[in-house]
Amino acid sequence: MTRANATRFLVLALCLSGGGGACALETSGASRLFPGDGPVVICAPHGGRLKPSEVADRRQGVLGEDANTADLGLRLQQAIAARSGLKPALLTCLWHRSKVDMNREEQEAAQGDPLAIAAWRHYHQLADQSVRAAVARHGRILLIDLHGQSHPQNRVELGYLHDAADYAQASRLKITDGSAALLASLHQDLDYPAFLRGPQSLGALLERAGFPATPSPREPIPSEPYFRGGYTLRRLTSGNPGVVGVQIEANRNRLRDSAEGRQRFAEALAEAMLDYLPRWLLLKPGS
Ligand SMILES: [Zn+2]
Repeated sequence: MTRANATRFLVLALCLSGGGGACALETSGASRLFPGDGPVVICAPHGGRLKPSEVADRRQGVLGEDANTADLGLRLQQAIAARSGLKPALLTCLWHRSKVDMNREEQEAAQGDPLAIAAWRHYHQLADQSVRAAVARHGRILLIDLHGQSHPQNRVELGYLHDAADYAQASRLKITDGSAALLASLHQDLDYPAFLRGPQSLGALLERAGFPATPSPREPIPSEPYFRGGYTLRRLTSGNPGVVGVQIEANRNRLRDSAEGRQRFAEALAEAMLDYLPRWLLLKPGS
């Protein structure tokens, strides 16, 4: 964290604890960026727990947090850095989703509250800057938008902006509609369905590490309910030629509910990156 960011965070903490008396809320403290130098950028928009009273509660939409995803993001950042020598940038939202939803467009995200609007704009400014800096350094990057869900199927859901129904009908899996269009320029004769759910897909790598996932060879057509990927994934990948993106929705059991589980999943995902990044993004580990 930079000195300026640390100061902002401290100001926010003082405001929330009442230590600052009548102090204005510093909305840039809604986001925390852990800078990195690697070809992976991680965003965790729904792990925040702070509920500043100056910000109105959102009245509609999804209001529940993705428990422990900020901590999971930190563990993933460290696990990837330990293996590759390059640290992903990590952006987390510290405010609870009942105050602002960083994975929705501005209107639904902030619902008119001026402080929430400012916080939302700052978060996405940091996301844009982090992605731009990583692309400038490495040429192309992987964006991981990290979430949590509690669907009954109890598996990791990997979102590439395709609906479950698209997977059921392969002709509907158009690479230009997804979050990995960049791959077409990197691979001649790319087998796109194989990237999504073949034996070397991210889903397959996670399954081999003991974490059921979809799409994957075992579950090539995600059963509903399934999260396809949302606002952040679309915003940072569409029309952005240097970015491949995936929304990773970690189930709660074993993956998020204990520190040991989060550590195991973070390490499995980091290990998968050692295969995934050179194979699909043609990035050498440590490059
Ligand atoms: Zn989420």
